[in-house]
Amino acid sequence: MKMAKTLLIHNTQTEIEAGKILCLGRNYAEHVKEMNAKATEDPVIFFKPTSSLIRNGDPIYYPPISRNMHHEVELVIIIGKAGKKIHKSDAYDHVLGYAVGLDMTLRDIQAKAKKEGLPWTIAKGFDCSAPVSDIIPKEKISDPGSLKLTCKVNGELRQSSSTGKMIMKTDDIIEYISSIFMLEPGDLIFTGTPEGVGPVSTGDIIEAEMEGYIKTSHKILAGA
Ligand code: MG
Repeated sequence: MKMAKTLLIHNTQTEIEAGKILCLGRNYAEHVKEMNAKATEDPVIFFKPTSSLIRNGDPIYYPPISRNMHHEVELVIIIGKAGKKIHKSDAYDHVLGYAVGLDMTLRDIQAKAKKEGLPWTIAKGFDCSAPVSDIIPKEKISDPGSLKLTCKVNGELRQSSSTGKMIMKTDDIIEYISSIFMLEPGDLIFTGTPEGVGPVSTGDIIEAEMEGYIKTSHKILAGA
C-alpha cells in the first residue's frame, strides 16, 4: 500500500509536506437532507490521519471491514502559513492553494458509530480514505466560492455541485477551525460534500474534479 507524505503543486516540481487532515461534515444543505441528518449549529469536525492520504493515480484498497464504502467529493484547502485564532478577513493570507479530494467513507461503520454515539475514526480515517489531487496555488483561482466539483464513477456522473452552495465558506471555515486548532503549513481542510454520495465497488474507477483546474483518479482494488 502506497501512502503519500507529500502533495505536488500542479505543473511544478515543488512538493509540500502534508500535515494534519481536518474535515468538515454537514456543510451542504442538500447532503444533510439526503443523510437524514440534522443541521448542527456548529459544523461537525473530524480528523483523518496523515497516513490516509493518497495521490492521483494511487489505488484505493477496499477495507474488508466494510460492505458500503462511499465517495464524497470535496474542495480541499491547503494551509501555507501557520496561525491560531485567524480572523476571516486574514484567512486568505494563510492559504497556499486548493485541491479536489475524496472523503472516502465507510457508511455502514459510520451509521453504527452514529447510532451508538461513538466517534467516526474508523469510518473516516482508514488507509486510502483521503485521495487528494495536486495543489492549485490560490493565485490561480479567482473565487474559491464558485468552483464546480464533480465526481464520476466509471464515467457516470454521481455528484455535481458548486462550492457556492457551502453553508460555511472557506474564510469562515479557517476562522472557525483556527479558533480551536493551530493551523500549520501543509495542513489540509476537507470542506464537506454536496449531495449525490453513493457506494463504490472493487474494480470501479472514481474520478473527482475541480472543473477547469484539476482532477484526481483512482481505481478501487480489493483490500487485504
Ligand atoms: Mg465529507
